[in-house]
Amino acid sequence: MKLALNDSSLLQTQAFINGEWVDGSKGETFAVTNPATGELLANVASVGQAETAQAIDAAEVAMKSWKALPPAKRSEVLECWHGLIIDNIDDLAAIMTIEQGKPLFESKGEVMYGASYLKWFAEEGKRIYGDVLPSTADRRSIVIRQPVGVVAAITPWNFPNAMITRKAAPALAAGCAIVLKPAAETPLSALALAELAKRAGLPNGLFSVLPSADAPAVGGEMTANVKVKKLTFTGSTPVGKLLMKQCADTVKRTSMELGGNAPVIIFDDADIDEAIKGALISKYRNSGQTCICANRLLVQEGIYDAFVEKFAAAVKEFKLGYGFDGDTTHGPVITAKALTDIDTKVRNAVEQGANVVIGGKPSELGHGFYEPTILTNVNDTMSVFREEIFGPVAPVFKFATEEEAISMANDTEFGLAAYVYTQNIGRIWRVSEGIEYGMVGVNETAISSEVIPFGGVKESGQGREGSKYGLEDYLETKYICMGGL
Ligand code: ADP
Repeated sequence: MKLALNDSSLLQTQAFINGEWVDGSKGETFAVTNPATGELLANVASVGQAETAQAIDAAEVAMKSWKALPPAKRSEVLECWHGLIIDNIDDLAAIMTIEQGKPLFESKGEVMYGASYLKWFAEEGKRIYGDVLPSTADRRSIVIRQPVGVVAAITPWNFPNAMITRKAAPALAAGCAIVLKPAAETPLSALALAELAKRAGLPNGLFSVLPSADAPAVGGEMTANVKVKKLTFTGSTPVGKLLMKQCADTVKRTSMELGGNAPVIIFDDADIDEAIKGALISKYRNSGQTCICANRLLVQEGIYDAFVEKFAAAVKEFKLGYGFDGDTTHGPVITAKALTDIDTKVRNAVEQGANVVIGGKPSELGHGFYEPTILTNVNDTMSVFREEIFGPVAPVFKFATEEEAISMANDTEFGLAAYVYTQNIGRIWRVSEGIEYGMVGVNETAISSEVIPFGGVKESGQGREGSKYGLEDYLETKYICMGGL
């Protein structure tokens, strides 16, 4: 593979189990390719059920001494891991761009964002408090917080670094061990993180990485194994539902960060330039492959035409291209299948009467490149209204009243993120409270950071990642009654 790294040992192609780099027991591998060119990057070890069980056994053992450490000692390791990630940001970003396709500046942004979770939870882990409840003369009621146990994690390819640290940091800070299956499209970023965890002095077994071409085998063991007490998953809603069902047999706790169908509601009284700026970032960042990205632009009728015109003029300025080229603003989508799925949604909309304002087809660059697209004359029967597009396609819907906007926003099984642009303070509150979403951006679409509780309602999932709430997902509450005093 043609990738000049400052530190070539960050490029690992074996699984990382109990602190060792290992091949799969059957010697199988799978191909990782560059979505911008189709070239083969690496053949990565593919593990299955047996190695997953082995990693879980090691996690259970490792956790015993890890959870007994003073929180400040765990914090030191996480701080060190954070520092090593920052030191190696150029290499980590290059690995991400070559396997995921996003422009290098976005990859660097993600590495910083991913690292921020380690720093944050290194601090939060020192502040896990219990409680003393109202008591009587002869008894005291105490609540303590304990690590939930061995955690299994399954992560997607759209944020190959940050979706891992967002789970590993709170789990480790709480005193848990974590066993991770990264997406098969982007295992190299995960393995580079494992190499840095090892260098940071994270004890063996606390963070194992299980690349695999057989997700059901790894996921099956993770969900069936009684030693695993919690599953945390980021990915599609159908796979999330399947994993929840699998976890039911052993009554595991779950955190699910699933699909979204984010509306950006833009009222006549909005600052239109700010709304365009926000919608552009939210819709097209990572080529529309983020779970909180704008899926539906809902624009009030008074400014609809002006909005579309200005929005299209801004999209025309995009430079689609290879992530390593300095002037590239947007990269490819992840796979040929993803490209076909996006194109099918656009074709369906057009067949039902949608107008293509710009784009509307695969790019001449080939491979995963799809032209940034804007559709008008769209309605709620089209798949671009109902389904997560996960590509650079912006359908712009028209609405008349505030009630209609709220109703359109809520007319979906999803409830992850939503955005509202208006200058009216009363409307800000009415709409923010009236829409069924876990996160609401008001006059802002860049809403995510380590400080906030990221997560959704309805079929977008359960649990929160980041912030003080994010630690809760990795803690059990134990009540101790001291009687006979
Ligand atoms: P996407 O369609 O965006 O790839 P998925 O939900 O299919 O979303 O994938 C997210 C993660 O879930 C990936 O790591 C993938 O390998 C994993 N995955 C997919 N199917 C299963 C399954 N049946 N069991 C466990 N993990 C799975």
